[in-house]
Amino acid sequence: MMRRDERQLNQLIAVLARDRDLPDEQMLELLAWPCEAESVRAAGPACDADAALYREADRVRREVYGDAVYLRGLIELTNHCKNNCYYCGIRRGNTGLARYRLDQETILRCCREGYGLGYRTFVLQGGEDPYYNDEVMCGIVSAIHEEFPDCAVTLSLGERSRESYQRLFDAGARRYLLRHEAASEELYRQLHPPGMLLENRLQCLFDLKEIGYQVGAGLMVGAPGQKAEHLLEDLHFLQRLQPDMIGIGPFLRHADTPFRDRPNGSMRMTLRLLAILRLMFPYALLPSTTALGTIDPQGRELGLQAGANVVMPNLSPAEVREQYALYDNKICTGEESAQCRTCLETRVASAGYRIVTDIGDVKREGVKRDDP
Ligand code: SF4
Repeated sequence: MMRRDERQLNQLIAVLARDRDLPDEQMLELLAWPCEAESVRAAGPACDADAALYREADRVRREVYGDAVYLRGLIELTNHCKNNCYYCGIRRGNTGLARYRLDQETILRCCREGYGLGYRTFVLQGGEDPYYNDEVMCGIVSAIHEEFPDCAVTLSLGERSRESYQRLFDAGARRYLLRHEAASEELYRQLHPPGMLLENRLQCLFDLKEIGYQVGAGLMVGAPGQKAEHLLEDLHFLQRLQPDMIGIGPFLRHADTPFRDRPNGSMRMTLRLLAILRLMFPYALLPSTTALGTIDPQGRELGLQAGANVVMPNLSPAEVREQYALYDNKICTGEESAQCRTCLETRVASAGYRIVTDIGDVKREGVKRDDP
């Protein structure tokens, strides 16, 4: 016979799947639903609550995306950053780090290698590095677009002016990832030094959307000081923004940051939130992140089973990968691009899904898909 608790839980999940939302009190209940074990292992979810959530999230993801998992080739173009976020390993204040920048020709070489391996999206990611001003970045974006007209260029370069986002769009970029990190003013201030303003960050996301980008927001689960109420604020913000992509991963500490002694985020909570996001945003592109793979060897497979449908293998030159250390013990820093691709293919298949190499646009009405 079904226990009362189990009935309540199933009801919460059913309402969430039907309405793509829950009243605040019930969402908090679901976020905090007790689980006997703290960690989830390769064998599967640690408790019935998570198993039921993953099942529903998987059903919804298969309805929209089938078993497809999209590949995004990640090129980490610079580890210079003018900012000093307390959680980040490449923050300006980390003086022990060897810094690098990739030039246009190196970036194009990475794209060529990626194209040969089947990638049709290139994600150019970096710290906020003034070297990559509009002139330099527009040159890079249009060179990629010219050589690979059947590929999407995604940028993840932090906060810029609206005019700058527009110029990059005009040069051919069509997607932009900018994690909002925390929609709560209180928490945002605990994670960032004075001068970095939540208001600006959120405005950037709305600007990007208005310009016509497919936009990605996101956050770290278990960031120092984060409470369930903060996550609730994040969910409300995401409902307002309606992003095309949502990137979440566990907070992972880095030894050369002010958060060096803080506990890492939990994999269980990250997976639970992924499943909730899939139910709230059935159309969304949700990456199973490298941070998940770092916190547990099976983390990325579990992420896919909890509703994620994107993986982002590294295409950066192997010799710079270790220097792009956002957190400690980051995986896949020593592998060649071809090895990353093969490894991911095996992992995705073992989780029960299939890597597809098409451009992988978000599947919902009203999204601009005009060729760049
Ligand atoms: S999180 Fe981003 S903006 Fe903040 S220091 Fe790191 S790279 Fe710079």
